[in-house]
Amino acid sequence: MTDSIFTKIIKREIPANIIYEDEYVVAFEDVNPVAPIHILVVPKKQIPTMNDANEEDTILLGKILLTAGKLAKQKGVSEDGYRLVINCNKGAGQTVFHIHCHLLGGRIFNWPPG
Ligand code: AMP
Repeated sequence: MTDSIFTKIIKREIPANIIYEDEYVVAFEDVNPVAPIHILVVPKKQIPTMNDANEEDTILLGKILLTAGKLAKQKGVSEDGYRLVINCNKGAGQTVFHIHCHLLGGRIFNWPPG
């Protein structure tokens, strides 16, 4: 598998505003934000889509969500509310084929999404 753009960010081969890192995940600001807070939480393991995740990724998937929740608190949007989004495949708008969770906050979000 060739390195995704996110793996290149994780390896510091291309720049990003990294705000969190541990042994499982990296979080950085989205380069094209759609909300005042728009952070991507990305597993260090390069899994292309949610369809490719399996039982052995259970802890990793939990770490992604827990990290997003902690960052929401840290960024001060946890009480007002925030949205977590994982797009799977082109029909859902996925453009980078390395699983990532969007943390979106700082504005009102409609439901259902457009
Ligand atoms: P998705 O459409 O769910 O695959 O989301 C991919 C996201 O990655 C988009 O919101 C892009 O703006 C973001 N993105 C793409 N390249 C970069 C980059 N080099 N640094 C930060 N965010 C990026």
